[in-house]
Amino acid sequence: MDDCIFCKIIAGDIPSQKLYEDDDVIAFWDISPQAPVHFLVVPKKHIPAPVDVAEEDEKLIGKLFRVAAQIAREQNVDDGYRVIFNNGKKAGQEVFHIHMHILGGKDRPWPM
Ligand code: 5GP
Ligand code: ZN
Repeated sequence: MDDCIFCKIIAGDIPSQKLYEDDDVIAFWDISPQAPVHFLVVPKKHIPAPVDVAEEDEKLIGKLFRVAAQIAREQNVDDGYRVIFNNGKKAGQEVFHIHMHILGGKDRPWPM
């Protein structure tokens, strides 16, 4: 996807602070963190939004949770973190390549 910023990060055309990478998934620090620990877990497959997840993607999307948990343990936030997917502009989605936000490192959770 030519004009997708996360596809460019996956391709290495835009730098990112990587936390994890394998054949299916990449994870990196959010450029504009909303919590002391805020990273994104992203499938390499360009799926625009949660509403676009197909049956064939079920395993891949499930893997995001396992990768997130592994990084959360490494970052010492596995005792409390928030998992967010924004779907659509109305919900605040800005990058239309599906991604899981992981927010942690605060004693009190965030609004909502
Ligand atoms: P959304 O609002 O689409 O759910 O979240 C997109 C997230 O991607 C935002 O939290 C934003 O800070 C982050 N982001 C946007 N562009 C970049 C970038 O070039 N690099 C990194 N590391 N994060 C980005
Ligand atoms: Zn993409």
